[in-house]
Amino acid sequence: MKLRSVNNLVPAIATSDGAGVKLNRTIGGPVLDNLDPFLLLDEFGSEEGADYIGGFPDHPHRGFETVTYMLNGLMRHEDSTGAGGTLGPGSVQWMTAGRGIVHSEMPQQEEGLMRGFQLWVNLPAVDKMCAPRYQNIEPAEIPEVEGADGVRIRVIAGEVDGTLGAVGGIAVEPTYLDILLPPDTSHSQPVASGHAAFCYVFEGEVSIIAAEDGAATQVPHHTLAILSDGEGVRMRAGAEGGQALLIAGKPLGEPVVRYGPFVMNSREEIQQAIDDYRAGRF
Ligand code: MN
Repeated sequence: MKLRSVNNLVPAIATSDGAGVKLNRTIGGPVLDNLDPFLLLDEFGSEEGADYIGGFPDHPHRGFETVTYMLNGLMRHEDSTGAGGTLGPGSVQWMTAGRGIVHSEMPQQEEGLMRGFQLWVNLPAVDKMCAPRYQNIEPAEIPEVEGADGVRIRVIAGEVDGTLGAVGGIAVEPTYLDILLPPDTSHSQPVASGHAAFCYVFEGEVSIIAAEDGAATQVPHHTLAILSDGEGVRMRAGAEGGQALLIAGKPLGEPVVRYGPFVMNSREEIQQAIDDYRAGRF
């Protein structure tokens, strides 16, 4: 297996969005506009309710998918179709906004904690105006694969050792794994050649090993490790163990024109989105 190495480390930029929710943004910031097919990655979380209590009141999306993964706490969501619910710890919402949806996302603490991720995944031009669709996945519905040495992998999307992820039918054939590595263990994960891939470490210490006898690149917290092309990724935890997201997807190779919550292929399509939203056509 030809191992992927770390091409680039992109530190998060502390920012805020919605009604003042504090975020660590890696993809979709000034340094990295996008990592085709990924448009945005935010880590949100705080023990201070004031950092997010305003939440993300009603806002639109068109032309892509938003993926929310909660580690701790709750996210109340309601949308223009009348749907709504609460995402709890360990749950995932894969929302295909398609031609348009207006929704609110309001974080809440549980036992003093609130933490999670939001990833934006682009849609190919042919699907940008599809009907909106939700995949709401409860924690128990996410398959967990146990590897060697107690390594545990939650398969949100993609495939691990023949186990298919909970989310399916997505255009860019995504891999979305939450990998927990006990102290001093490692894991090798095949990732389709040609797919864009990155690793985001959020607990402990995790390194990327580029070859069996090669040097390790440690990935700091709040930092995106963009991986080279290859057939797979080898991750190793330090003495404290570690936990990381490993995410990959098929690049679209299409023009990306973004304006806030609208991501299309041309200026004209962005203007159409603005006009449609203002006219209440979402
Ligand atoms: Mn949203």
